[in-house]
Amino acid sequence: MTQKLYAGIEAGGTKFNCVVGTDPRNILARTKIVTTSPAETLTQVCDFFRQQSVDLGPLSGLGIACFGPLDLQRGSPSYGYITATPKPHWSNTEIAGYFQRELNMPVGFDTDVNGSALGEHLYGAAQNITDFVYVTIGTGIGGGVFVGGKPLTGMVHPELGHMRLPRKTETDSFAGHCAFHGDCLEGLASGPAIEARWNCSAVTLPEDHPAWDLEADYLALMCVNIAMSYSPQRIILGGGVMDQVHLFPLIRSKFEGLMSGYMLPAIALDEYIVAPGLPGNSGEMGALAMAISAGEQRAD
Ligand code: ADP
Ligand code: ZN
Repeated sequence: MTQKLYAGIEAGGTKFNCVVGTDPRNILARTKIVTTSPAETLTQVCDFFRQQSVDLGPLSGLGIACFGPLDLQRGSPSYGYITATPKPHWSNTEIAGYFQRELNMPVGFDTDVNGSALGEHLYGAAQNITDFVYVTIGTGIGGGVFVGGKPLTGMVHPELGHMRLPRKTETDSFAGHCAFHGDCLEGLASGPAIEARWNCSAVTLPEDHPAWDLEADYLALMCVNIAMSYSPQRIILGGGVMDQVHLFPLIRSKFEGLMSGYMLPAIALDEYIVAPGLPGNSGEMGALAMAISAGEQRAD
């Protein structure tokens, strides 16, 4: 029996990564489309998938893991839209409905981080776990929160990157660079924040540089807030900054110190704060997982 083919889009502010595959571990085609105007970008994405359905066979569903903010309230007149984004030309752009009409297949639509979290749930580090949080620490900081096996949306969707933390004023004079909040988590601990604070590329900072101890302080505080707020069974930390794998043991030990024996049952912290299980680009993988999920719901 041939396996079904699915389409995924990681829709970002600089590019739309498009993939076709049978599941996130078996990608058969991919392309990158530069994010220009909505009309031009969305048309090119549709053309790519139409061509793939000719070359590879019919597609059974599409998942879109999209930059936000998004309207995820089913029944809302602007469900499936990007709402008020600072990205020029993209405010109030219909995404999910557009692809549904153009490609005529089930469409899954969610934030980029909820997509990544779903990928981790189905295929990665959160298999067999219903309550967990996936956080990416990269150009920005964003988090997908799963409760009872489903992504939390609520009023909008969680914006973990913009939680407020006590700034380490004794060791950190950097004012933070979030355009909205200054020294929120993203303003203090995203890749560009590290680079602005230390005035060099984060990739080249040596492992013993004080930047990493400070980074682990902030990410441990974030994990405490996440643990206290959502009581997840696991916290997955991904994104470019977490390629600095030496951060993991530092974050775990600072987290344990900050928790002060409170709340934590007898769990191994190296199974509580973990790296993603899916290799490669978590957004693309997540989008494909969303496509499979959307296709299966239609088949039910
Ligand atoms: P994006 O968030 O744009 O999807 P990434 O998660 O790769 O992409 O994040 C990119 C940012 O993460 C870069 O701007 C850089 O600051 C930081 N970064 C990427 N790779 C590394 C690395 N190996 N070590 C430290 N920081 C990194
Ligand atoms: Zn902020």
